[in-house]
Amino acid sequence: MTAWGHHARAAAKTDVIVIGAGLAGLNAALHLQDGGAHVTVLEASNRVGGRIHSRRDLEGAPEGGARQVHDSYTRTQARIKQLGVGLYKRPTPMHGTAVNIGGAAINLKDWPSSVSNKLVGEERGFPPNTLRFRVLTKINPLPDLTAWRKPEFQKYDVAFKPLAASLGVSAEALRIMEFAATSMGLDGVSALHLFRRHKQSEAAEFGSTARYIQGGSSALPEAMAVALRNDVHFGKRVRAMTSGLAKVEARCADGSVYSADFALCTVPFPALAGVTFDPAPRGGIGRAIRELSAVHATHIHLISRAPFWESDGFPPTMFTDSPLEMVSKLFDEPGHDTPALMVELRGRGCSRFDAMSDAERGQAITSELAKLRPASKGKVDYLGADSWAVNPLFKGGYHYFKPGQVTAFGAAMFEPWGRVHFSGEHLAETGVGLEAAMESGEREARAILQKS
Ligand SMILES: Cc1cc2nc3c(=O)[nH]c(=O)nc-3n(C[C@H](O)[C@H](O)[C@H](O)COP(=O)(O)OP(=O)(O)OC[C@H]3O[C@@H](n4cnc5c(N)ncnc54)[C@H](O)[C@@H]3O)c2cc1C
Repeated sequence: MTAWGHHARAAAKTDVIVIGAGLAGLNAALHLQDGGAHVTVLEASNRVGGRIHSRRDLEGAPEGGARQVHDSYTRTQARIKQLGVGLYKRPTPMHGTAVNIGGAAINLKDWPSSVSNKLVGEERGFPPNTLRFRVLTKINPLPDLTAWRKPEFQKYDVAFKPLAASLGVSAEALRIMEFAATSMGLDGVSALHLFRRHKQSEAAEFGSTARYIQGGSSALPEAMAVALRNDVHFGKRVRAMTSGLAKVEARCADGSVYSADFALCTVPFPALAGVTFDPAPRGGIGRAIRELSAVHATHIHLISRAPFWESDGFPPTMFTDSPLEMVSKLFDEPGHDTPALMVELRGRGCSRFDAMSDAERGQAITSELAKLRPASKGKVDYLGADSWAVNPLFKGGYHYFKPGQVTAFGAAMFEPWGRVHFSGEHLAETGVGLEAAMESGEREARAILQKS
């Protein structure tokens, strides 16, 4: 007996094409399979996982995308358990965090009284690396995770920066909040979107001890693909979709054509602009596909050949208002001790490094680090980078709404277009990150099975 009970038999003859083998696509495919559907997964690249990508080609196998699994991720954790994938907690960071605002490194504990701290009033006590969260905790009017789409809160679908300023957030706080967070530019993002993200972060208990997947994050989508009866079809970049009265058709860049009763498209909307639909989606869903944007996100992988932090006395992990934004010393799987560092860039700060060749980026990053931490000079090697915004299959790291967009299409974007359903990180009601992908995949699999 499947979770779908009486739908299982009715769905036995239903053919479904799932486009994209990220977490949303794979989770949907497994639910569809459990419900009795025949599932064909089409993936443009040559790997599963999408925005999960353990870079096993690089020393220490750093994560190009998602790393952390939170306790509140019930669907993700259930799937991990079901498939026998290992999950572990890393030890509490031993080194703490350094702050480098305005040039000089200090220890986080010294921030409230530092001359670099130009925040005002209560804000002075907020650590810069959690400033955005602390400020939003003060001003977020949303009572719960589902309130973001309710009519009474649509008045917050306006540019965040002026709204926050009118609520008493200082200019310096708004400046620091633009680093290493959702820094798409706080003018260009809907306050309602940030309020929603904040509620999601609270629910996900960000800041509590996260868990990590044994063998790297990619081990989860790989185990999900193994659990599918039909192999994922790689190198199948869908370029056109036709939704007819009885069938849906997907045409791939290599000329192959797949036909089915339904399609579930998990391509991030910003990347979906390269796919043509017949008939063309109109109304809210059409606007969402054309207009939804994604925050740029870049991970730059470094390795430290010697612990330079031991000679300058500051922790290797640091929050900065420099071009490096956030530098994290990674913990390694038990039994390994590779002093890997990751530079995590978000938003506008990505563009400069995304435009460089590997050689230029390596040179630029290590010399920026040496400016902040002279002791690192000659001790740090560049390994590689993952720039999600420049990859046409993603066009960014995470979706966000510009001012007015939640009101314009925040509800309509959840609707199917004919026989094509949509899911993915951008289409979760309540979940965030990996859990958002899992939630939306499950929901749309259920919707398709109900129609079968
Ligand atoms: C840098 C970074 C760090 C992150 N860290 C975390 C974290 O620590 N914890 C967390 O919970 N979340 C994190 N996330 C978010 C998480 O990775 C995503 O929410 C989740 O993986 C999205 O899954 P998805 O299936 O919706 O989309 P994707 O993973 O993007 O899957 C979409 C798939 O569609 C494929 N595709 C695209 N176009 C086509 C086409 N035309 N035809 C066929 N296939 C196509 C893509 O190749 C891809 O495989 C992070 C994201 C980024 C970018």
